[in-house]
Order: sequence, then structure tokens, then C-alpha cells
Amino acid sequence: MRAACALAQLWAAAGGRDKLAGRCRLSEVVEVESVQSRQEQRSSPLYQGRVEVYAKAVHGRFRTIKWVGLAIMLGIYYLAPWLRFDRGPNVPDQAILVDMAGRRLYFFWIEIWPQEVYYLTGLLIIASFALFFATALFGRIWCGFACPQTVWTDLFMAVERRIEGDRNERMRFDRQPWTAAKWQKRITKHAVWFLIAFLTGGAWIMYFNDAPTVVVDFFTGQASAVVYFFTFLFTATTYVLAGISREQVCTYMCPWPRIQAALVDQDTMAVTYEAWRGEPRGKHKKGESWEGRGDCVDCKQCVSVCPTGIDIRDGFQLECIGCGLCIDACNDVMAKVGRPPNLINYDSERNQEIKAKGETPVYPLVRARTMLYVGVLVLTAAVMAGTYLMRATTELTVIPERNPLFVTMADGSIRNGFDVRILNKAHEDRSYTLTLGDDAPAHSLGTPAGDMGDALTLVAPADDVTTHRVFVRVPPESLTASSTPITMVLTEIATGEERRISTVFRGPEP
Ligand code: SF4
Ligand code: SF4
Repeated sequence: MRAACALAQLWAAAGGRDKLAGRCRLSEVVEVESVQSRQEQRSSPLYQGRVEVYAKAVHGRFRTIKWVGLAIMLGIYYLAPWLRFDRGPNVPDQAILVDMAGRRLYFFWIEIWPQEVYYLTGLLIIASFALFFATALFGRIWCGFACPQTVWTDLFMAVERRIEGDRNERMRFDRQPWTAAKWQKRITKHAVWFLIAFLTGGAWIMYFNDAPTVVVDFFTGQASAVVYFFTFLFTATTYVLAGISREQVCTYMCPWPRIQAALVDQDTMAVTYEAWRGEPRGKHKKGESWEGRGDCVDCKQCVSVCPTGIDIRDGFQLECIGCGLCIDACNDVMAKVGRPPNLINYDSERNQEIKAKGETPVYPLVRARTMLYVGVLVLTAAVMAGTYLMRATTELTVIPERNPLFVTMADGSIRNGFDVRILNKAHEDRSYTLTLGDDAPAHSLGTPAGDMGDALTLVAPADDVTTHRVFVRVPPESLTASSTPITMVLTEIATGEERRISTVFRGPEP
């Protein structure tokens, strides 16, 4: 192409038609532009380095809600593994426990076996739709108040303020040379952060082990390598995410801000600057008129307190976690300058337009999307509650022997072997009667020990799975096909609880 262009341009210079030369000039322009764009791409980094956010302490309604929420959530997280719940002998008495060795999940009186993992799926669906519903109504309420990243970052920032001071002090502190006092404060801060991170990682491990036992084992060096590994892992992640990465987790790592954009509408509540009221902004001196100007005095207090370091007056932003601290800060300012509160407000986009026109705001809770989320939520909860209440405490599995399919006995009868597996979820041993349903041909039942008869008595130990080898014998004249459907019926002797399972009896071609 370059050679063709050179020839065309020579031809054009010699007075010939320059259509191809024109195209070549165009392609050169495009090429130059694309080279420039590639150079720009190379010079702009893929990763934006973190700009330190010195969030200022603030007091107010939202800050109080956040402190109360933080205390409740952290209290539950750290203390829950220590709660005891009596389930009887030989069963863990920890109220909330994921017992990996015993392959069981305990939540107070609820016990989930591995076979019932669909309950966890149901719980995840309920949790997801509850979150969708809350997001449709209240925007980023999860991010601002309940997300572990926010809660632990808040705690770490509180520690930082306590040790290194508030915003201005910390900015000065960071610029100071490294004196002994600076080292001491910095090391203290990181030590407290590390302690919180360690308690957090340690508490997580307690949900998977008996809490008092694992604590003793941990400090006497008798805990398993898995316990030490995961404690270290969760300590490190808490320390890095809440202490170092902070708002970058929300902005760059978490997918939720992107997903929730699809869950909100014009009526979703969000932290919003009421530009119709605040603009034109500007400094205001005491005694000056408010005529012809907005209420925003451009003090930037809303920016100073923001944990993600953004200016909410620039409109909705991905970085805004909806914590409401800028509302508290601005209300403080409005009170000082004698203007009405809530220049930064927790309200919907629609209400901004309505209020700008001087009309009454609306708060429609019943919307297509909220009803859809509630519908799925209620339906899933109902199905789960129903299946849990009707759940059997015995599970029966029957596996026919395949090698050989059948045995012809000395008396000519045909015998099939089956593995009858009984899962007894009760905390006491149980006795069962095993029979065949009415659809079965004439038969007798037995075990490798003999005991042939119409019914077998089988015992299943508490809280365990037992497999019994069972034989079914059928006289050849009772068989009309090589494969006869039969039903095995297991009846718990004490309660009469019955489990049925269909299988087949194999025999020779009649
Ligand atoms: S802009 Fe306001 S609501 Fe959003 S993160 Fe910052 S302080 Fe929180
Ligand atoms: S705190 Fe309020 S008055 Fe101050 S800059 Fe922010 S919006 Fe304006």
C-alpha cells in the first residue's frame, strides 16, 4: 500500500489524476491519528494510583445510624460463634456452626445435611431478592450501611482518627518528617488494625469449628494447618481491604455498583444534591442577602467528610456509596448559615424535578420492579418454609446389585441383592420395618445372615447413614418379565413415618 501511495503521489505531482493520492493522504491522516491515539493510550496508565482520602469526622443522623449499625453487626459477627444451643448428646452445641467434618450446617434448631444443599440455594435467592428490593427502594443502602467493606473500613478509619487525628491533623501528619513520635503513632495504628483484622479472621474460623476448642488449640499450637492458614488469610484480607484499599474496593473491585444500576429507577432514593436549590453557589458573608443566589456556600464540607473523596454536587457518581455523611455535614453548615436543612438530601430523582417545580414529592412503594422482587421473595420463602416443615427425618436410598443382576437359587427361586441406605437425621437410634409394596410379586426378604420373611427389621444409628445388604427372593412362576417394578417401603416403628422408593427386580427372560 505504501509503494502504491508513493507511485500515486508521483503521478499526481506530474499532473495526473490524484484520486488515489487523495485516498493515500486520507489514510496517512488516519494512520497519524491512530499512532497518536496509541501513544496517548501508552502514556495514560491502566491503573489510577490511589489519591489518599482524608475523610473528616462528622456528626449527625446518618453518622449515628452508621455507628449503631456497625456496633450491632460487628457484635453479632464476633459473638455469634460463642452462642450455645443444646441439641442433645453427641451433637455439637454451637448455635451457628458449619461442621465440615460432620458434613452438617447448624443454625440453632435448623440442621442442613449435604443432601439438602438446595436450602442454601433458596437462602441465596432470598438474600439476593431482599437486596434487590432494598436497592430498588433505598438505592445503595447496602453499600453505605451494611456491606462488610464499609463497616470494617469505618472501624479502621475511626481507629486512624483516634491515633493520628482528624482530617487536617492527618494531612499535616503525613507531610511531617519521620520522627520518633511519627513512627510511634504509625506503628500503633497498624498494630491496632492488625489486631482487629486478626480478631476478624479468627472469628470467621470459629464458624467452622467449635469456638472454645479452636481458640485453645490455636494458641497452644494444636490447631490444624487449615485453621492457621485461613486465619492468616482472613486477617490479611481484612487488613488490606479495610486499612489500605478502602474506597478502591468499592470503585474498582466490587461488581455490585455496576449491577445495581439495573435495579434502580427514577423513584429510588439516593443521596442527592438539590441543585435547583443550591445553585448558583458561592461564598456567603454573614448578613449578606440570599436573594438571587443558591443556598450552597461552597464550603466543601460535603467533600471533606466523604469517605470516597467525591463531590456529590457533581451529580450521581459510581463512587458514591450512599452513606449520607455529606447530608450530615451539609445540614451542619445550613444550620450555621441559617438556611433550611437537606440541601443534600436522601430523595429520588423524580422528587428533585417535582420539588424544583414547587410541588409535593411522591414516594410510590408499589412499583412494577418492587412488586416483582417481593413476589419472588415471598414465593421462595414460602416454598422453603413448606419444604422445611414437611421435610422427613429419614431418607431412603436403594441401589440394586448389578453384578450379578440376579442369582438362581438351589430351589429355583430368583434372588436379587440391594444396598438399602438409611439416613437417620434424628438424634436417637431408630428401628424400621422394611417391606415391599402391594405391587410386588410373591416374595421373601432377607439379609446375608438369613432371616427370610415378609418384613425385615433394620436399625439405623442416630445422626448417621447406614447401609444394609438386603435380598429379595421371588419364585420363578411369579415373574412375568425379566424386569419387574417393585416398591420398597421403610416404616419407622415408633412414629409410623414411612419412606417409599421404586426400584426393579431382575430375573431371567420368562
Ligand atoms: S457523596 Fe455523600 S453519600 Fe456519597 S459516598 Fe460521599 S459522603 Fe457518602
Ligand atoms: S456542605 Fe453544603 S453548602 Fe457546603 S459545599 Fe457542600 S453542598 Fe455546599
